[in-house]
Amino acid sequence: MFSKILIANRGEIACRVIRTARRMGVKTVAVYSDADARALHVAMADEAVHIGGSPVAESYLRGDVIIAAAKATGAEAIHPGYGFLSENPGFVDQVTQAGLVFIGPSADSIRAMGLKDAAKRLMEKAGVPVVPGYHGEAQEIVILASKAREIGYPVLIKARAGGGGKGMRRVDHPDDFADALSGARREAKAAFGDDRVLVEKYVDKPRHIEVQVFGDNFGNAVHLFERDCSAQRRHQKVIEEAPAPGMTAELRAAMTDAAVKAAKAIQYSGAGTIEFIVDASDGLKPDRFWFMEMNTRLQVEHPVTEMISGVDLVEWQLRVASGEPIPLAQEDITLSGHAFEARLYAEDPAKGFLPAIGTLHHLSFPGEAAAGTELRIETGVRQGDAISPFYDPMIAKVVTHGPDRTTALAALADAVTRTEVAGSTTNAAFLAALARDPDFASGDVDTGLIGRKQDELTVTAPPSSRAVALAALAATGAMASAASDDPWSSLTGYAHFNPLARRATLSFGGTGIVAHITARPDGRFQVRPEGGEAFVLSAGAGAGDAGATVAAWPGHVTVFEAGRSFDFAISDPFARAAEIGEGTSSMRAPMPGLVKLVRATKGDKVAKGQPLLVLEAMKMEHTITATHDGVISEIAAEGAQVTDGTVLVRFEE
Ligand code: ADP
Ligand code: ADP
Ligand code: MG
Repeated sequence: MFSKILIANRGEIACRVIRTARRMGVKTVAVYSDADARALHVAMADEAVHIGGSPVAESYLRGDVIIAAAKATGAEAIHPGYGFLSENPGFVDQVTQAGLVFIGPSADSIRAMGLKDAAKRLMEKAGVPVVPGYHGEAQEIVILASKAREIGYPVLIKARAGGGGKGMRRVDHPDDFADALSGARREAKAAFGDDRVLVEKYVDKPRHIEVQVFGDNFGNAVHLFERDCSAQRRHQKVIEEAPAPGMTAELRAAMTDAAVKAAKAIQYSGAGTIEFIVDASDGLKPDRFWFMEMNTRLQVEHPVTEMISGVDLVEWQLRVASGEPIPLAQEDITLSGHAFEARLYAEDPAKGFLPAIGTLHHLSFPGEAAAGTELRIETGVRQGDAISPFYDPMIAKVVTHGPDRTTALAALADAVTRTEVAGSTTNAAFLAALARDPDFASGDVDTGLIGRKQDELTVTAPPSSRAVALAALAATGAMASAASDDPWSSLTGYAHFNPLARRATLSFGGTGIVAHITARPDGRFQVRPEGGEAFVLSAGAGAGDAGATVAAWPGHVTVFEAGRSFDFAISDPFARAAEIGEGTSSMRAPMPGLVKLVRATKGDKVAKGQPLLVLEAMKMEHTITATHDGVISEIAAEGAQVTDGTVLVRFEE
């Protein structure tokens, strides 16, 4: 076994790898960018090396600098995590040439599977069923369009270098093919520097089912059953589970056989995932699954496999990379119970899952699992850390395990509901809604489920009047010193002989709220929002009692109630004036990005909902639509780099 390894990654996956390494007595070296100088993975590792600036191109993608860090610290091997350099064969070659071990497959295996078109050609040869479509070399639009017609609509255009759902467009009608192709190419070019595509038949009622495989350097390959990742938005996984609901013995045998065959075809060593698309329009049939791609690394959702198999996949990675055979024979790998993973992201589901940024002023995960279940939180951040625009906005993975699917899913819903984040918009309420969705619960899932139920799953209920009252009381600062028994001491400016009333002004979703707060002789407060009912609250209210929690942070108060979070801004009269001066008739960039396409010009009369421009943020395209009807007086220029809050569109008064 290695005595020291370097982890060429950040966030939750770096922390995850460090944990297993430590348990095995292997020393760890972290690497970090400027933005990550105080990150959790740096604090957890035995040593840490600064590798450059915050943008990934200046740090986590600098293979040469990372290899130098490994040499300088005496690390013998490099674990790449996922993303970044994990599937870069050139990096693997450099690592090997430097006399280090890459904890993952060979460069040749990665090359064989790196591009989706070549991988499909290879799998076809190996006798693995592949998704029908065109995965040849030609890239001319006329050829691709005619191939699409041959395949039959709907089709899916995919970036051959794709990953993370980027560079992908579903096309339902030939008239839309050209637009979709240029969109897919633009996104692919930006994300992967490669705009070549393939065209696939869009599978009916698609289910994403993938098989975890593991190979070693002695020609052995095994599988660790399947995961179902059909709960997706924009082709990205949201909730994953193992085993797949409704899986039959026949389909499992066929899929796991094909997966092991695929791994053996490329002498695969280490952890890998074979992703299949399954046509579930007529139940799960052993002749209705096709190879989509192989991910030649540890997968984001690997914990669900660990929960049902009891195997630590990172431990296996270290053992196999250090020259040991796979620790278990196929027949000794067993499946027990059911596991779920939900990806908690800083993003806004109601705005097309637009990525968000912010400082996690309050971050709290449930401490214990629901009875009879196990709970595992995989995170790389702590309270006070920032979700920056530089990296993937994942906050945590919430993982549960139970004896059966219903129990594990209820535990997931419960855990997500009890997770509290303030300081950034998150998808927590959306995840809880999905975990409680009757269709999802029935197990009759397909990749279109979230899209069909988007409105239901993202519905935003207004805060209850009690939540408003709690926010108003917190806004006065009363709760900050709730530890004191004396209500007067906590409210600055109060005195026993003064009229014991105070006004709190705050706003929720742009609407102003004024509340009158009166201190009562019994040490509690009466809080009466104007036009609303009065509540008698103690300063300790909201500290978890009566189902609500309150977190105050600079300029804001967040109330957590029944799995929802309500962010109230404490009104600053100066900021208000500035806003009014600005007028309501402008649209601002919701996050830093690049203006990719502009679809309107000055003087245009536009209707609410009309697409105005395309903002590229986090390497994905986001369409910005008009918030209301109006005439455009100013619009951002194509190619402009904008920061969070930059005015993108101004309307005429
Ligand atoms: P999974 O199937 O594990 O969810 P994804 O394809 O979603 O895998 O990718 C996992 C992570 O790796 C994401 O953070 C994604 O942004 C990143 N990623 C995937 N492919 C690439 C790539 N080719 N280049 C850079 N990052 C990638
Ligand atoms: P990525 O590298 O971005 O993960 P994949 O090829 O794995 O790309 O596809 C991502 C997702 O897109 C799949 O999980 C699936 O939901 C959907 N998808 C891919 N190919 C098809 C297809 N041919 N028909 C229907 N859906 C598909
Ligand atoms: Mg995929």
